[in-house]
Amino acid sequence: MPFIEARGLTKRYGSSIAALRDVSFSVGKGEWVAVMGPSGSGKSTLLNLLGGLDRPSEGTIIAEGQSLADLPASELARFRAEKVGFIFQQFHLVPYLTALENVMLAQYFHSLADEAEAIQALTHVGLGDRLDHLPSELSGGEQQRVCVARALINQPNLILADEPTGNLDEVNEALVMGLLTELHREGHTIVMVTHDPEIGRMAERRIELHHGRLTEVSFFPSHEEELIDNLLSAVWHAREDTGASLVDAGAMPEFIESRATFRLMAREELIAFADGRLSFTPPGEQRARIAIRRHRLAERLFYDTFGLEEDLLHDNAHKIEHSLSPEVTEKICKFLNHPRTCPHGSPIPPGACCPPGTGA
Ligand code: ADP
Repeated sequence: MPFIEARGLTKRYGSSIAALRDVSFSVGKGEWVAVMGPSGSGKSTLLNLLGGLDRPSEGTIIAEGQSLADLPASELARFRAEKVGFIFQQFHLVPYLTALENVMLAQYFHSLADEAEAIQALTHVGLGDRLDHLPSELSGGEQQRVCVARALINQPNLILADEPTGNLDEVNEALVMGLLTELHREGHTIVMVTHDPEIGRMAERRIELHHGRLTEVSFFPSHEEELIDNLLSAVWHAREDTGASLVDAGAMPEFIESRATFRLMAREELIAFADGRLSFTPPGEQRARIAIRRHRLAERLFYDTFGLEEDLLHDNAHKIEHSLSPEVTEKICKFLNHPRTCPHGSPIPPGACCPPGTGA
């Protein structure tokens, strides 16, 4: 049984605007789903319906086997307080309550306020020394972390996040995404609205909306793996260029463009990241070695066999390299007689097929 089942959701505002039109999908327990789409496509409307903040004009939502439409207002409020943790872009903190009191207020709506537990939650998000600050005395990133603590205080099964990093700088974005990753790992179900593909990539599945219609449901497909291979290759190149095993992340344009994917790679223990410097873990280095080898062999193939011009090699190799299986890569290596360098002179890491002493 899915954790959430949405069927035929339509939401109209007045007679002319349909923010959602006949949207159906389901979310499994423990899944992390990104709801994506341009501004005005209905993402926030959908999230509000899933969280019981609003009711659909048509259609049904079954959450943990219970139809939200059948719940009277008081029980819908109980569903929100007990089952759902909200993280909004605009924070929605009570301005005259301290960080601690904001978290304790959420506890109070659920059952009983417990100060020690609330302090622990704020300490967990790195705000143990900001308990008595008012929201106006906290930075945007700190306010968002109070929201994360507040969303989690009642151990909700479902976390709904609406552009959770929309207003944050990169450091706080990384902190908040790290907290969401941790929650996902602990088994919470997360539905997250974002228009940022880099943030969306952290999820396992994507639902896309356009003009209120669901246009696509996709698992992050093999292009994700290709991107990881390309980024590992970029780290390899940076290492070759500098001769140092630690790479300055800020000097890599790929790092700036693909921050979330780098975090994913750190999560999967392909790279290590400390003090602004990247390094490979042994599995990451091995995977980069395979990717580099495949790319440089493909270049060699186009150069030696087809006589392709040097400046066309990279793009052409790039088009085929991700489809080369390990077996085919070995065959190419043998066919080319185990070359040591690519046509640009960079070393080709040797493979298992290479006789000892060949290659780089
Ligand atoms: P997104 O989150 O993708 O930016 P929204 O769900 O906020 O999109 O909005 C979808 C559409 O519904 C937009 O055209 C928006 O103007 C409209 N809309 C949203 N909320 C209301 C409301 N309370 N009253 C009238 N129109 C609304």
